[in-house]
Amino acid sequence: MDIDRRTALARMSLLAAAAALPGLGAAAQGDPQAEKGSQPAERGTRLRKIATEEAFTIPEMVEPMREVLRRGGSSLDLTLLATIYGEASGAPPQTQPTVQAPSGTGKASSNRDALARLLLPKLLDLDAARLADMDANGVDMQLLSLSMPGVQILEPGTAAALARVANDRLSEAVRRHPTRFAGLASFAPQHAHAAAKEMERAINTLKLNGFIVNSHTDNTYLDDPRYWPILEAAEALGAPLYIHPRAPSDGMAVPFRDYRMEGAVWGYGIETSTHIVRLMFSGVLDRFPRLRIVIGHMGEALPFWMWRLDFMGAPGARGAARKNELKPSEYFRRNFAITTSGVEDPLALRFCIDKLGIDHVMWAIDYPFQPTAPAVAFLESAQLSDEERAKVAHRNAERIFRITA
Ligand code: MN
Repeated sequence: MDIDRRTALARMSLLAAAAALPGLGAAAQGDPQAEKGSQPAERGTRLRKIATEEAFTIPEMVEPMREVLRRGGSSLDLTLLATIYGEASGAPPQTQPTVQAPSGTGKASSNRDALARLLLPKLLDLDAARLADMDANGVDMQLLSLSMPGVQILEPGTAAALARVANDRLSEAVRRHPTRFAGLASFAPQHAHAAAKEMERAINTLKLNGFIVNSHTDNTYLDDPRYWPILEAAEALGAPLYIHPRAPSDGMAVPFRDYRMEGAVWGYGIETSTHIVRLMFSGVLDRFPRLRIVIGHMGEALPFWMWRLDFMGAPGARGAARKNELKPSEYFRRNFAITTSGVEDPLALRFCIDKLGIDHVMWAIDYPFQPTAPAVAFLESAQLSDEERAKVAHRNAERIFRITA
């Protein structure tokens, strides 16, 4: 392992360790904060917190993802996949919904091993350890979504089947803990019409709160007419589509291959913001004007670019072959909301609220990839009015994702 990779992983490992280890969290140690978190009625005016981009996976995903890793290839997502699901993660495929953190084997040979052993059990847990982390930090609810890159990296038939299983598992977790979890449904974009059917089942039967898609599918984007049944279904069901990052698609991958740039440090945001700009200029948002899209990471830098997008991308740009009927900022206010996942910068938050409007910004942690405590501290200490803070912390999420519990 090279030095850069080792350093980055050591840093990630420390960050992950800063969040409570399953079974070793503050709640398990009788921390008074944990007690407060589990008894919200006694906390008076405490801030209700709904975290809106929180990852999980299911035991059934482990072996298919390991098969993707064994096959190899050029996808930049393989790095993260290896971190989460690689053999070093040590956790065999399980059939139980609750998976305990593996006890130390004393064989940890690298920070990567340590990180993997932290991440996979946390992703698999939809019960005690996750709730303990939430309680320890006063988080009322997590809006759960299947961890990137989701089913999109799988062969289409497997992808569709696993999306259904993931949605079933997710709805079971929500039913076990209805006041603590809500969920975004997965679907396999590879079969758009079948995806639309699963989306309908997820909302009408499973009562989930929206959908998650991890940016491109086989290097194509949602403005492609083949995916319009998905956009049509989301709009018709009145449920938001969360466009979560994955690593840059093959066509723009080369500069990201050095310095581990493909990931959260830079590549994820570039991939996802490019996806959003494609949606705007393709005119697809004029075709589906009531489609609600949510993006994370403080809007994937798009709020900062909005003036220039409007200036250069107003409707009718000569020779640009764009089809947008509105200015990018008009789409942004009409069709989009953002979350703060992974960006704990109060200045960026202030800017986004002022630029997009207070009703368009929601709080998120990005559990378990980022630790909970600093995300909570960020939300509680940012310079916001009480009303602004309540909207970011829970009210906007309740409205946009129809969270009623
Ligand atoms: Mn995330």
